[in-house]
Amino acid sequence: MVVIGFIGLGHMGGPMSANLVKAGHVVQGFDLVPAALEVAERHGVNVVTSVAEAVTGADAVITMLPGGEQVLGCYDDVLAAAKPGTLLIDSSTVDVADARRAHERAAEAGFDAIDAPVSGGTAGAEAGTLTFMVGGSAENFHRAEPLLEPMARKVIHCGGPGNGQVTKMCNNLILGASMIAVSEAFVLGERLGLSPKALYDVASISTGQCWALTTNCPVPDLVETSRANHDYQPGFAASLMLKDLKLAASAAEQSGTDIAIGRLATELYQRFTDEGGGGYDFAAIIKSIREHSEQ
Ligand code: NAD
Repeated sequence: MVVIGFIGLGHMGGPMSANLVKAGHVVQGFDLVPAALEVAERHGVNVVTSVAEAVTGADAVITMLPGGEQVLGCYDDVLAAAKPGTLLIDSSTVDVADARRAHERAAEAGFDAIDAPVSGGTAGAEAGTLTFMVGGSAENFHRAEPLLEPMARKVIHCGGPGNGQVTKMCNNLILGASMIAVSEAFVLGERLGLSPKALYDVASISTGQCWALTTNCPVPDLVETSRANHDYQPGFAASLMLKDLKLAASAAEQSGTDIAIGRLATELYQRFTDEGGGGYDFAAIIKSIREHSEQ
């Protein structure tokens, strides 16, 4: 029997922890928000009232938190309360430097650790079909693989500490930019008298095909899994997409990489967030593009 401490039971952590319970693991879950704890409890998670309690006696600890600040903050309690040999898995999307800092702190305290951010959204979290991008030693990767398997379609080793986050950041650069391109195409098409369905029927089987189109289409009622069908409730919030694009923009600046489209995508998500859209799914960027088009 494997005992897993799970910290952060939000849009992603909630269904991920539920899948670990389904796989027969004992999950000790903690979140700051009571509503998240209630939902997790209904899915069989043993909910607890602190990070230290979640970690006590656990064989592995998974963190699924908003960002690096929260992860490093929780690590104070995790490193103090975990038993020797506990494997620390951070699946949050965080800055590469924060991920490497978390690895260092875990190593200094004598723990094995991996960064293992995910792709696949809330639909993937619910279905247990996430892609995990793992940074860390090959040994720790192999140790984590069977634990991640109930939540995953694929678990891929991307290299040393922090490289999972590098991979995730690059993937979301593609996603953020492609959602804007798909949205612009629909708005341009509709303004020129093209039905969204006609564009979808062609682009979804042509060279315009991508996840932003065929899994989370920004126009409602074309794709069953899209958050557009649920009034753009996330899903993957636009504020989180902005966070990821900012991580990419800052990494690009530090490494002297020219990511012109990435910078522009960051500006457009910033504008949408400033206008109050941050809490909606990132597919709702289509509304901003419509609103900023000439009447
Ligand atoms: P979320 O805001 O729904 O969940 C985060 C949870 O962490 C919240 O319930 C919050 O209360 C909890 N939390 C914050 N600080 C805490 C603390 N100190 N102790 C305990 N709990 C704490 O966010 P999410 O959508 O589940 O995303 C989580 C992470 O996964 C983020 O880093 C995000 O970028 C990444 N991610 C999200 C998606 C997605 O589609 N939502 C996809 C891939 C990756």
